[in-house]
Amino acid sequence: MKITFYGTRGSISVSEPEFSHFGGNTSCVLVTFDNERIGILDAGTGIRKLGHDILTSSIEQRDNIFIGLSHTHWDHIQGFPFFKPAYDPNRKFTVAIVGKGSKATNLESIFATQMQREYFPVSLSEMGAHISFWQPEITDFTAPSGVSILASKHTHPGDAYGYRITEGATTLVYCTDVEHGDSIDPNVVKLAQNADLLIHDAQYTPEELKDKKGWGHSSWEQAIDVALRAKAKKLALFHHDPEHDDSFLMRVEKECQRLFANAFLAREGMVITL
Ligand SMILES: [Zn+2]
Ligand SMILES: [Zn+2]
Repeated sequence: MKITFYGTRGSISVSEPEFSHFGGNTSCVLVTFDNERIGILDAGTGIRKLGHDILTSSIEQRDNIFIGLSHTHWDHIQGFPFFKPAYDPNRKFTVAIVGKGSKATNLESIFATQMQREYFPVSLSEMGAHISFWQPEITDFTAPSGVSILASKHTHPGDAYGYRITEGATTLVYCTDVEHGDSIDPNVVKLAQNADLLIHDAQYTPEELKDKKGWGHSSWEQAIDVALRAKAKKLALFHHDPEHDDSFLMRVEKECQRLFANAFLAREGMVITL
């Protein structure tokens, strides 16, 4: 399994040069499975470049591509109107929040709204590709390719979902936009158990977190706490605050690695092979 980070920023994209090392695009992660199929996690602004790479690379997957969303805050869906493969009538996508259930706000209507004429010149229905939306009650399933997905809801304004993705003996856990509260959420630890790579929200420093109760995010210290409790092999700290520039994040990374040697801050363009 290969993980490629296309967007690592939280909340809003940033384009100033002093943010370019860790990257300015919002959440988007490409998962390339050993069976050569791909899946996408979140559709933040990073999905624009991913779309370009799909069209110009050897990724030949013409049948369904799964796009799993943690939730639908702007920084996780805003890139979708600029995802060029979604304009190709020969391509198929399933945009999903696994576990969200059909009683929650309709996912398709959320995507259609952000492409209403007042916000964007092309409507969702005019994009061209076969795009289906899926918000099942079930929290686990195995795709025909043999990849299994387990979803778990966690605390975030409006709810968000973490995913445990397993192919053969390899497990990736993607858990962003998560607030633990006064103690670490045991369900997050359970989801991340023995993961080969845990990608975890680390928007704030421990000091900043004190003033951000109810904002829906974690500190890097909490992300490390989860990784250690879950015995995750590697930890990618993710969803960097738009106020944290490269030199700030470099210092954070050094502190993190003092606590957990296999922790690192996710960088746009970074590729991790599991
Ligand atoms: Zn976010
Ligand atoms: Zn959010």
